[in-house]
Formats: sequence, C-alpha cells, structure tokens
Amino acid sequence: MSIIDFINCSDEFKKVAKIEFAIRRMYGKSCYIIDIKLCRKCKIYGNVLVLDTRANQKFYIGISINNDVVNIKEANIMYGDLCYFCFREEIDKLVNETEHTLFGILMRSNMPLLPYKTYIRNNEYVIELPNKKLKFNNSMALNTHIKKYLKLIIERIFVKIATERNEHYLSPKSMKDIIKEFRKDVIDCDWRLLELRTIIEILNSEKNIKTVNNFEDVIALVAYIEKRKISELRNEYTKYGIILDRSRNVGFSRDNIARLDSKQLIRIFPTIKGDLIIHKDAKWRLNRVYLKYLKPLRYFKNDQNILKIETKCCKIYITPS
Ligand SMILES: [Zn+2]
Repeated sequence: MSIIDFINCSDEFKKVAKIEFAIRRMYGKSCYIIDIKLCRKCKIYGNVLVLDTRANQKFYIGISINNDVVNIKEANIMYGDLCYFCFREEIDKLVNETEHTLFGILMRSNMPLLPYKTYIRNNEYVIELPNKKLKFNNSMALNTHIKKYLKLIIERIFVKIATERNEHYLSPKSMKDIIKEFRKDVIDCDWRLLELRTIIEILNSEKNIKTVNNFEDVIALVAYIEKRKISELRNEYTKYGIILDRSRNVGFSRDNIARLDSKQLIRIFPTIKGDLIIHKDAKWRLNRVYLKYLKPLRYFKNDQNILKIETKCCKIYITPS
C-alpha cells in the first residue's frame, strides 16, 4: 500500500507511480524513469528504461505488474510491443489461420524424404528418424507434434524477418511475408522442413520404412545431419563434385573422385568404435548415423591416408584425424 492507493486518479497514473515507487525503493533516489513500455496486449510484462544520475548511465529493468503489485526482475525480451507470452499467443493464432496454406505448400513441393522407420512398441507409435526417435500415444499426439513443430518454424521465420527489417509487429502483412519466406525455405529444402515433410508423409503413407536409395536421398540425409539447406549442398556439388560435412573432413560424392582415387588404393578392413573408424595407426572420424543409413560395402585407403568408403549410393572420403 502507498499513498497512491488513496488518491483518486487514473489507473494509468497509478501504475506509473507504482512502478516509480518500486524502482526507487530498489535502486535508490538517483534513479529516474525515462520510459515505461508495457506489453500492448496483457499490460503485465514490460521494460523500464532508467537513468542513474550518479553514474550517468541508462539501463533497462524488467517488470511485471499483477494486481497492482510491481515485481522487478531482469529485462524482458520483447517482441516489438508484445511480451514473450502474448507473442506466442499471436503466433498460435497466425499458425491456426495459415496452417492449411503452409501444409499445402509443403505437400505440393518435391522435397525429398528422410530415411525413416515406424513401428509399435509398448503401445506407443514410434518414428525413427536419423538422430531422433519420436514416440506417440495416439494419432492425436502425432498431430499435436506436427502443429507444434510448424509453430516453431513460423516463430523462427517471424523473428528472422523482424530482425532483418527491424519491424517487430505481427500484422496481416507479416502473415503474407511469413508465407513467402516459408515458400522460399520449401524451395531451398531447409533441413527443418525435411523433418516436417517426412513426418507428414509417414502420417499419410502405408509404408513403414524408407531407406536411402539414391544420391538425392544422400543429399537429404547430409542436409539434415549437418543442419543445412539442400539447395546449398546442390550448389556445392555442382561446383566441386562433392558435398562436405561441417568439419570439412568428410566428403560425399556420387562418383569416384579421380584426384583422390588416382593414388594407389589399398583395400582395408577397419574396426568401428562409435564415430571412429580405426585401422592400424590411422583413425578417421565419421558421424555413426552415416554408417547406419548409407551401409558401407568396402573400405579403402590411399597413400595419403585418405579413407574411401564405398556404399550403395555414394562414395565417402575422409581425411585422417
Ligand atoms: Zn503480454
């Protein structure tokens, strides 16, 4: 309780006075409020820009106001004039309105699919993706997952657009922008969309397994594991005839690479321990997911200790580590 509670004045004035009071009490008399920004929607969360006259410093303080009680904390991350919670609500609304359009764009695309396996275990429906196992109690849970995943993607797109243009407002126009950006990501085959596209395919398909059958499937797998866009990898392949992993030590190619093969190749029979391929003193590192899905047929090593793995759909070259 403060004197303000007994004065007949507007709620807005009361609120400002209460915030001022709380901040002064916590930070001392030398602090002045320059600006108060509360979330446009809930008017609960916000930030206060404060000037400390002693240090001549400006800083933000996070506040939340509930039932006239002001809580002071770390500065809130605001999405334009919305707090995080209201921002999430707006995104939910946006996704509900555009979901149909977005799924349509995704399904009409010719995006390749990731390898997968589905089965029932302990009354749960299991989807195995490279590096990931998803479990669902029923088809409703699966639908909820798909929607949640789509929301995350939309949220990410919005934050990206907002940062690029310094426009932190969700409006009917941002809906259009988001659809445009989503379409671009579909054309580029962003790795996040690969997962979404594959799960939707599983939902609508009778098949319970999909393996890696050609080099396009290899590119999709590499994009997903390395968290890259397929369009980027395709460009890389056109330019260099090989696509690389993040470490730049592993390359995937459809055909033999003369520069690496011309040196004398020796067939070897290495042992594999997790991500390591070991032969005598030499060691190579490869994410084990690749071995699982690409199914090695033969291993070779050239005189520079470069490992070559022949698989059904590609050749893998690895520099020693
Ligand atoms: Zn809010």
